[in-house]
Amino acid sequence: MTYDPNNVFARILKGEIPCKKVYEDAFALAFHDIAPKAPVHVLVIPKGAYVSWNDFSEKAPAEEIAGFVRAVGAVARQLGLEEPGYRMLINTGRDGGQEVPHLHVHLFGGRVLGRMIPDGV
Ligand code: AMP
Repeated sequence: MTYDPNNVFARILKGEIPCKKVYEDAFALAFHDIAPKAPVHVLVIPKGAYVSWNDFSEKAPAEEIAGFVRAVGAVARQLGLEEPGYRMLINTGRDGGQEVPHLHVHLFGGRVLGRMIPDGV
């Protein structure tokens, strides 16, 4: 899949759409999800143009991968989630339920989140 430079997160990165920013560095931007599923629900996105985890893990330079992974951890610590704990989720592709075609990590916290995903094979 080719990257759509007008997807909603690309537009947030360009400043064309506002967001409730919680963190920014050279590699990543983090902001509150517009439809939170937990008391804390933050999205962390790389600044580079990557459609998905597939795209990012295959094509991103090591420096961008390291910078993004460190940024996700920094956001979780900044939000005070390290000790109570939290969940990271990356929806990927059709079966993964990915809606926005710019890689994003969901960070959930602020309550006991339960086990994994709903039961059923
Ligand atoms: P996914 O299904 O993993 O692609 O998740 C996309 C997420 O982006 C959903 O949780 C949406 O609520 C969220 N979202 C969509 N548009 C915006 C926006 N403008 N600002 C913040 N979050 C958004």
